[in-house]
Amino acid sequence: MDIAQELLDQVVAHAQELPGEECCGVIAVDDLTARRAQRVYRAENVHRSDLRFEIEGTELLKLCEAIEEQGWELGAIYHSHVRSAPYPSQTDVGFAALWPDVEWLIVGLSDPANPEVRSYVIEGAQISEVPIDVREVPV
Ligand SMILES: [Zn+2]
Repeated sequence: MDIAQELLDQVVAHAQELPGEECCGVIAVDDLTARRAQRVYRAENVHRSDLRFEIEGTELLKLCEAIEEQGWELGAIYHSHVRSAPYPSQTDVGFAALWPDVEWLIVGLSDPANPEVRSYVIEGAQISEVPIDVREVPV
């Protein structure tokens, strides 16, 4: 996806604010072809766990509606990995089956001073990393 530095910073800041649990949220994009990030929406990890995350169905639905009202699309679901590398876990792969067409952006906090952000497309059991193009100015 294409994302402005400012929006990416919001995602990383969310992860750093919750060093003891996986943070999560979604990123709206203009459309699913260009995938230019428009806004970051925080969500709550219902498990408040450092090992997994889940966004409650009603909350996710509300976020989808808010994004749709703006004429945008749900472009990515993001979450953090508190200790492990920013690579999708088996749980993530299972959850991804419910959300085709979105990217999975993961913030790795194993080195808190140097958060590592990566994005993936998950199709079935196939995990493919996709580039994050960071722009200085919002698009
Ligand atoms: Zn994960």
